[in-house]
Amino acid sequence: MTDRYQTFTRTPLGQTLVKNLGLPDPTPLPRWRAGDRVIDGPVVFGAIGETDAGKAIQALLRDVGAAFSTATEGVASSSIRPKALVFDATGASTTADLTSLQRFFSPVIRQLAAAGRVIVVGRTPELAQSAEQQVAQRALEGFTRSLGKEVKRGATVNLVYVAPDAHDQLDSTLRFFLSPKSAYVSGQVTRVGTGQLVSNDPAQPLAGQVALVTGAARGIGASIAEVLVRDGATVIGVDVAQNAEPLHKVMTRLGGTELLLDVTAVDAAQRIAAHAQEHHGGIDIVVHNAGITRDKRLANMRTDTWDAVLDVNLRAPEHITAHLVETGALRDGGSIIGVSSIAGIAGNNGQTNYATSKAGVIGLVQALAPKLAEKQVRINAVAPGFIETEMTAKVPFAIREVGRRINSMQQGGQPVDVAETIAWLADPASAGVTGNVVRVCGQSMLGA
Ligand code: NAD
Repeated sequence: MTDRYQTFTRTPLGQTLVKNLGLPDPTPLPRWRAGDRVIDGPVVFGAIGETDAGKAIQALLRDVGAAFSTATEGVASSSIRPKALVFDATGASTTADLTSLQRFFSPVIRQLAAAGRVIVVGRTPELAQSAEQQVAQRALEGFTRSLGKEVKRGATVNLVYVAPDAHDQLDSTLRFFLSPKSAYVSGQVTRVGTGQLVSNDPAQPLAGQVALVTGAARGIGASIAEVLVRDGATVIGVDVAQNAEPLHKVMTRLGGTELLLDVTAVDAAQRIAAHAQEHHGGIDIVVHNAGITRDKRLANMRTDTWDAVLDVNLRAPEHITAHLVETGALRDGGSIIGVSSIAGIAGNNGQTNYATSKAGVIGLVQALAPKLAEKQVRINAVAPGFIETEMTAKVPFAIREVGRRINSMQQGGQPVDVAETIAWLADPASAGVTGNVVRVCGQSMLGA
């Protein structure tokens, strides 16, 4: 769906009104296209001392061909317009070290290019060696979330916490946050732990993998299928019989197989496992995308309306996951991604059923991540904010306009933004990424 206001702000009259009236100014966000570089412009790297994480970050920057300079106190020269600022704060062991953040960023932040990237890498606070270090590291969250609200012009700011001895797991996560793939992800905190070292081809990271995507006929699900196939996966698309035609079109275009079923059916998990076994020999990636809304204030909510939403959004992912794991249909080393929502984090008027289901998806991630780690299976969730789809096109005009603007990007996201985030989480090279909930919401003010 087109954002007419954003189109208008790109005209000369629109720009004048935006400036004079202080109206929202949603910068168009570039998206990644096949063949694009990870980062297209200079990078400035800063650090608190020399650390293993810092070395890994610099190796990655060299690997992606980024022209980068190092600085401890930013670059005062106005001749450089950095496309990214990357700061290794893992060396912060006391709160005294936090001054380094201001020294590095203050002189250079104004220079950051439009749609630029800021990444701060810290040490996972819960795994700190001392209380002082834990405090200093936890403080980084406030810094990145605030800077995300300051940068404007389509730039993103994200914090990556890395566990001790997990610096070799940073690559896929840094690639994601540096590139236009993370266009609508800002103000997020990701935890990277230890994992098996996988060095796959970043151009085809999912080659040889089989991915199940529920609700694949349209909207976000169709985009997820497309991006996973672009990255080398073979897709099994699931949707309800009423959407047989659009599902068939999507799967034919992507060379995937289709399975018409209602994810709430009692035999849904068995049928998925049987289909995967017969056509593909198993599953490596599960994306629980199928979801519905049935909005009503709780006072007017009927049990069937309540249950319809919980059944599709939460109970089906719970049952299907359990069956695929128990039967081994989901192969060891696999990856599960739930689709939550910022409504599941912040709550929303008229959505007690939906928010309960979507908060439950986060519960599923938190409950299963440690258990599934024994099988090297990972589970994460994305929590989209306002994404331009048929679902949000139905929202009344005034509410839709507010939904679009109340985030740091001042615009809605695209289905591809959710899909790219899922592709990063599904990547076997993200072996250290489990138990995370990543909001794809342009840093929405809701539940921030
Ligand atoms: P959509 O309604 O456009 O697509 C959902 C798809 O799921 C449809 O093809 C539908 O037929 C399928 N589906 C629904 N019930 C099913 C069932 N019982 N069995 C099998 N398939 C079923 O929705 P969307 O906007 O693309 O949303 C996709 C996911 O993202 C949902 O889980 C939704 O809750 C979540 N989400 C969307 C937004 C947004 O802004 N659009 C925001 C937050 C979260």
